[in-house]
Amino acid sequence: MPDKLGSDTNRRGLLIILSSPSGAGKSTLARRLMAWDDSLRFSVSATTRAPRPGEVDGVDYRFMDDSAFRGLVTDGQMLEHAHVFGNFYGSPLAPVSEAIDAGRDVLFDIDWQGAQQIQKSVLAPHVLSIFILPPSIGELRRRLETRGQDGQDVIAKRMMKSWDEISHWDGYDYVLINDNLDATEAKLKTIIAAERMKAAQQPDLMRHVHSLQSEFEDMP
Ligand code: ADP
Ligand code: 5GP
Repeated sequence: MPDKLGSDTNRRGLLIILSSPSGAGKSTLARRLMAWDDSLRFSVSATTRAPRPGEVDGVDYRFMDDSAFRGLVTDGQMLEHAHVFGNFYGSPLAPVSEAIDAGRDVLFDIDWQGAQQIQKSVLAPHVLSIFILPPSIGELRRRLETRGQDGQDVIAKRMMKSWDEISHWDGYDYVLINDNLDATEAKLKTIIAAERMKAAQQPDLMRHVHSLQSEFEDMP
């Protein structure tokens, strides 16, 4: 039976990709979506970057060194991977396949390079990609500063890379300007609820249509 959010076990899972320049708010929005729908699975990325204060291994990221990361790539265990801000980041394939096969949606907080790789993969028909823009560059910097997790040098590096990330905005299905957080959250929920009902996400539709057809033909 469909639950309150329109998800049910007789549908394929979506790969929901959130990208944005660092600081635009995608991790905050991802956390809100996870709290909204406990059937969503978050794709915990592997990374070679050091944990930030409060980040938990296996929850926020799987933290590892370069050689462990390269081993996963060589073994074909990554759905996608990229080099971002001097570190490797990648999405392990196995948890994604398991979730999708079980009809669960998977949420990705990844950059444009990862989004492009998934959009070119065999999973492309089930991808929902959303790009989050900041209301202004000044506000982007303020958010990076108020987040308080990076030093001035790292913030400067993230700001310099922000235009590169923003320049890929048109490769996404939806683009949202994250001005008001509650409003952006509401828009994201609307998009996800609608995408879940796309024909490609409902493998049982054909069976239902056949049963309607039989009933129709049996009518006196
Ligand atoms: P990202 O994951 O894109 O790097 P975060 O989610 O970490 O960005 O957000 C960066 C900072 O901006 C955080 O302190 C967050 O609370 C804040 N933030 C996110 N969205 C908004 C918004 N719409 N208005 C004001 N502050 C926001
Ligand atoms: P942060 O260091 O701020 O957590 O992430 C830096 C950037 O790396 C963000 O744009 C984030 O979306 C991206 N990122 C995080 N995990 C992955 C991943 O698995 N693959 C790719 N391609 N990018 C990722």
